[in-house]
Amino acid sequence: MTRQNSTAELDKAAHLHPYTNARKLEAVGPRVMAEGDGIFVRDEQGNEYIEGLAGLWSVAVGFNQKRLVDAAAEQMAKLPYYHVFAQKTHGPAARLADKLVELTPEHLTKVFFTNSGSEANDTVIKLIWFLNNALGRPEKKKFIARTGGYHGITVASGSLTGLPWNHASFDLPAIPVRHVTTPHAYFFAEEGESEEAFAQRLADEIEATILEEGPETVAAFIGEPLIGAGGVLVPPAGYWQKVQAVCHKYDVLLIADEVITGFGRTGKMFASDTFGITPDIMVLSKQITSSYQPLAAIMMTDAIYQAIADHSERLGTLGHGFTGTGHPVATAVGLENIAIIEEQDLVGNAAAMGKVLQSELARFADHPLVGEIRGVGLIAAVQLVADKSSRTRFDPEGKVGAFFFERAHDHGLIIRNIKDAIAFCPPLIITEEQVCEMVARFGKTLEDTL
Ligand code: PLP
Repeated sequence: MTRQNSTAELDKAAHLHPYTNARKLEAVGPRVMAEGDGIFVRDEQGNEYIEGLAGLWSVAVGFNQKRLVDAAAEQMAKLPYYHVFAQKTHGPAARLADKLVELTPEHLTKVFFTNSGSEANDTVIKLIWFLNNALGRPEKKKFIARTGGYHGITVASGSLTGLPWNHASFDLPAIPVRHVTTPHAYFFAEEGESEEAFAQRLADEIEATILEEGPETVAAFIGEPLIGAGGVLVPPAGYWQKVQAVCHKYDVLLIADEVITGFGRTGKMFASDTFGITPDIMVLSKQITSSYQPLAAIMMTDAIYQAIADHSERLGTLGHGFTGTGHPVATAVGLENIAIIEEQDLVGNAAAMGKVLQSELARFADHPLVGEIRGVGLIAAVQLVADKSSRTRFDPEGKVGAFFFERAHDHGLIIRNIKDAIAFCPPLIITEEQVCEMVARFGKTLEDTL
């Protein structure tokens, strides 16, 4: 047997990749990424790309922030690992918990840490089941989520996710969940329907779903304030106020999944502020550490905490947690990352650069392939369509978007195509000149796609 030793060969021979067509990877081989610098990453051959999606919507501070390296190294040298089970804690977990309680809306007073957004949403499901058992309403266990929403890929969080490719052949959903209509007017509003009327129709659908299931059986509604991985879908005006009112009416908890939107992405610290949402639970990850370390956080109200705490006493413990929950290195990096976001006013930069991004993209509004340009702050998408006037999509596989994704590399740009929607979510440190350059590279790719 010949030993394969280039990174690409080793990888091809031994590695099953997530979110990848395995046969295509075998045929073309992986692109080996080697280093990062600000908003740029370079592959092994030295080709440089603007990382227009900040990795996976997550690297707020850029790809070579030494302060995070130092924070990790210092914590590694001091106490590389300890857990937070059974009356133990450590400095970074305690300090980050305190910081998150300070930063998030005032009514969110406690935090539970996990390693990923999927685990966080899994944990949310379990905590809500635990809570409703504690409150003596064991039948109140169902969830409502949206088609097009993304909440992770574990058995339970993947069940909340409303994207067909996450369900196909995985036998999901595996927990009681109903998916309601995607809040995206461009494709789902009826002809002549105002945004307000569309929002009302969606809220009515949620109310009807709760009534159909029985309000005594519906525990929670989960949504991303602005859907990210499902295509950067900005909800219609008034949507969240109406959804919130329905949830309150039927004592249904409201979960804001801010895994992508948290820590400044929409130009405010949290998208719940941007959209006027008062969630009972807020889920955070990604930009919490700029993904230099895996970490997620679940913020909850005092009422939720108190009921869980009482129940843990009755049962003798809260029987849930991960070896890595509140990991000292991850939480130390999180603290430093948030300090940078605050010191450099990256939330303000996201608001300012977001305006530049949205207006630069708006220049493509008349392009024959461009159906809709949407976004808030430093997250945006350009919807490519086969027919502009009828809003007809290309083929269901999104082959045009996939072609665009590949060709963008030739122009030194990494973006994400969600079917035929081209998504942008650059690091929050991006400058005006860099936003313009990123959009210029998008324009060149669009020319190739025509
Ligand atoms: N929730 C949202 C809104 C996400 O965008 C993601 C990931 O993209 C997740 C949850 C899952 O997070 P993870 O990939 O860390 O499990």
